Amino acid sequence: LEEFIFETKQTLVPKGFYPHVNTLVCVGLCRDEITSPFEEEVEAMWGQAFICGSLGGMLFCGKTGFSAAHRHAPITGHFIYYCFTHIAIDHEGIVGSVYRTRSGMEEKTTACGALAAFAAEIASNKLNLNFDEDDIEMSMLKKHIINKTSLSTDAMNAPDLFKVTMAAYETITFDLERHVRRDAGNFKDRRYALFSGIQIH
Ligand SMILES: [Zn+2]
Repeated sequence: LEEFIFETKQTLVPKGFYPHVNTLVCVGLCRDEITSPFEEEVEAMWGQAFICGSLGGMLFCGKTGFSAAHRHAPITGHFIYYCFTHIAIDHEGIVGSVYRTRSGMEEKTTACGALAAFAAEIASNKLNLNFDEDDIEMSMLKKHIINKTSLSTDAMNAPDLFKVTMAAYETITFDLERHVRRDAGNFKDRRYALFSGIQIH
């Protein structure tokens, strides 16, 4: 993780992205506490980040969130985005499974829990796409990934967690590019560096 962030910095400094001088960093990760070392590493390298992430790492801060971030640097400013979904793979190679010893949990837990729940709904033929005001991010996550990708919602051809995670990654990448292009259309002198992917625990 440290090496990855360091490499991105080594790539960007020669291109004029200077930490604490002209660059605002935006971070979009899942709310899960196991993603926080990533955020801490980014902030240690680039300074305090604008936080864009929701469950699964989805970018539901939307136009309002991105335009707020974009107002926090000058018209010649530089922006870096690290927008990642995540997945756990345990020591036995089981996808989605992680031990969280720090919270006293002794059983295996799931990551990403939201994406695993989505995969389980599809597999059990109980996919619920109604908007639940008491579960805003999860309702939107399911709808939005289905709209933006070719993810199967057929229980007979149910995607596994790996496929759902790839679909989340694609959706996050589309969304990030769209929001950044919108800003770039208005500010010709700004510079943007986008990183998206899947954080593996
Ligand atoms: Zn998660």
